[in-house]
Amino acid sequence: MESEIELDVMAVGAHPDDCEIGCGGTLAQLARQGLRVGIVDLTDGEPTPNCSSPAARLQEAEAAASRLGIQKRITLDLPNRRLFDTFESRIALARHFRIHRPKIVFCLEGKTPTASPDHWQAMQITEAAVFYSRLSKWDEHFGRLPVHVISRQVYYSLFYESQWSGIGPRQFVFDITDTLETKIEAVKCYRSQFPPEKDYIYDRIRSMANAIGLSAGLQSGEVLTATTALGSRNLLQTLLLS
Ligand SMILES: [Zn+2]
Repeated sequence: MESEIELDVMAVGAHPDDCEIGCGGTLAQLARQGLRVGIVDLTDGEPTPNCSSPAARLQEAEAAASRLGIQKRITLDLPNRRLFDTFESRIALARHFRIHRPKIVFCLEGKTPTASPDHWQAMQITEAAVFYSRLSKWDEHFGRLPVHVISRQVYYSLFYESQWSGIGPRQFVFDITDTLETKIEAVKCYRSQFPPEKDYIYDRIRSMANAIGLSAGLQSGEVLTATTALGSRNLLQTLLLS
């Protein structure tokens, strides 16, 4: 049984390193602000060409979580490369939502052409699990875990092959100026995925974060997409980031 710490935010990725690349700066910043943050990797991400074993990848993931300063990292045993949106995978994730009771869930968004199709499946599994978490009269699948209503779901993107082309509807930029380097250090923990010949990835992450930040008048940012229009009760804070 997982320890039952309650979390404010849970981010879900298909593989260890998805959350770091897509929203690592945001997660690190939220943790700095005192929120309790967790990551769920639906698979262990293995095998991959340069990683010696699943245990080695898990070690990298733990090191990355520690860099980000988050409270919890969970790796489910769903299969890498053949992750599918099945009833069982939805239940497996929803169980962790019921255990850790996040207010906000970060969900992978969109297809990643030329990269793993697991990402698209992860999006569908996460959306379904957010819903399954709240359904009553389902003890045969959830035992005594109480239902849990997740208040908000937001999407993050991996932006493979520079798919980002400006802010779209319901998107907003989260300021990661103070945690961009932390994000990069967390990604660097995955030496098996980013060996020295791929060091260019760090410049790309920096350039992307700065371009996204610039679009909102910030130094560096990550794009998040809400499922509904966002409201405001503090115009100065919203418009001036003051
Ligand atoms: Zn991935």
